[in-house]
Amino acid sequence: MANNNDTDQFKKVLSHAKEYGYVFQSSEIYDGLQAVYDYGQNGVELKKNIREYWWQAMTQLNQEIVGIDAAIFMHPTTWKASGHVDAFNDPLIDNKDSKKRYRADVLIEDYCEKYVQKAEKEVAKAAKRFGDDFDAVMYRETNPRVMGYLQKAKEPVERLARLLEAEDLAGVKALIEELEIKCPVSGSMNWTDVRQFNLMFGTKLGASADTATDLYLRPETAQGIFVNFLNVQKTGRMKIPFGIAQTGKAFRNEIVARQFIFRQREFEQMEMQYFVKPGTELEWFEVWKERRMAWHNSLGLGSENYRFHDHEKLAHYANAATDIEFKFPFGFKELEGIHSRTDFDLKAHEEHSGKKLQFFDHEENKNYVPYVIETSIGLDRMFLAIFSNSLQDETLEDGSSRTVLKLPAALAPVKAAILPLLKKDGLPEIAHEIINELKWSMNVLYDEKDAIGRRYRRADANGTPYCITIDHDTKDDHAVTVRDRDTMTQERIAIKDLKAYIEPKVQMSEWLKRI
Ligand code: ATP
Repeated sequence: MANNNDTDQFKKVLSHAKEYGYVFQSSEIYDGLQAVYDYGQNGVELKKNIREYWWQAMTQLNQEIVGIDAAIFMHPTTWKASGHVDAFNDPLIDNKDSKKRYRADVLIEDYCEKYVQKAEKEVAKAAKRFGDDFDAVMYRETNPRVMGYLQKAKEPVERLARLLEAEDLAGVKALIEELEIKCPVSGSMNWTDVRQFNLMFGTKLGASADTATDLYLRPETAQGIFVNFLNVQKTGRMKIPFGIAQTGKAFRNEIVARQFIFRQREFEQMEMQYFVKPGTELEWFEVWKERRMAWHNSLGLGSENYRFHDHEKLAHYANAATDIEFKFPFGFKELEGIHSRTDFDLKAHEEHSGKKLQFFDHEENKNYVPYVIETSIGLDRMFLAIFSNSLQDETLEDGSSRTVLKLPAALAPVKAAILPLLKKDGLPEIAHEIINELKWSMNVLYDEKDAIGRRYRRADANGTPYCITIDHDTKDDHAVTVRDRDTMTQERIAIKDLKAYIEPKVQMSEWLKRI
């Protein structure tokens, strides 16, 4: 649960994202459209860089992974086969007093998270008391109070999983009542029954009402990969194990869409399906858990901000599943899902299409439907994770303060701000020469307005990793001052060495080597 500091931090994230051209409310001049957002001039660059960082890590660093770009519209039978028409539902419940609508499962999960937080508080207190010798794992397993809290957190989630599995919606309502969960707005327990609500957006293809076909906007990108499995396998002469990656828009009519770009109705996914030999899937599941966490850690947001959360309730198609959760300003929440999807999808498409979706294994001399490990991450959620983690208020040695957006340099929209100390004496001309040198390999920005200190602050808040200042000495020594956003240290660098100095620090390829 978020405390006041977290709420303040989240408010700061929202206003900073808008003020610096990262994220705007969609159709804002018409008072906006709920849970739909636009990315501004800086946001589009950050988003593109995250997508590229993922894409290169998948398709460039792995010889056996290739990409595709499937259409958003798909044959409607796709969604019958995938189970989305029948089962892509959320259980919803309304509070009769506040008229607010909630996801019943989220109400219960939030209730449990409160007890996890209580347990963690106890652990933190004990850590302070016992100092260096403290063993947090042992404490969690032996301290009665902590164990009590953790049990209280675990039990309802397990019961919820069983109830949802049995499609017992009355049981879900009874559980909410038993736990005495109150509406956060009205404070009452005056709940409606729990109902299922399908999250897919429908639309129509065709000119006249009687011949039009009902279509759906895809709720995930994965199915575009499954239906192209054979095309890619054959034309790419892919051998098992191999992967197909895709990034693109997905649409869900989310019931509760608060929390900014965390939960939107139109969002972007980055998904990879890895096709493996049946029976090896659980080993590959572990491999991909590790690889994905290594990708996250390479960005330097702090490994303490990530955790795995293994699923209690497995979807009907999965035999193992975990989420990578990230510490957002409103607590640990799902950022990425890793699922062992068995042969469910390919088999279902075989049945519905009548086409064989199999692989001929020369070693085994037989055909089989491959099993699949899926990694699925929301691009917008990754954006929020990076943005909120990077936004910091710092008090400096002289007592003043600054707001700085410490984005990983490889992902920052602008890599360097080029700042002539004055707008005259030939300094702007030198600045433009530097821009002409650097612009071929990175985004740079020219800024000549205001005193240099204010320009530094502006670049800090914008997330620009380097400031390059051209001063009067530049004309004599052909060097400039390079200021580092994070350390604020300044170095004198010859103009001819500038590119070689900055490039390795901001280049994606250098960051990818950290994986
Ligand atoms: P949640 O439980 O938060 O609704 P999910 O389990 O339904 O998520 P998946 O179907 O596994 O999500 O989708 C994979 C990823 O897509 C998620 O980990 C998340 O990063 C992203 N995602 C899902 N729904 C949304 C949404 N409405 N807005 C933004 N990103 C989303």
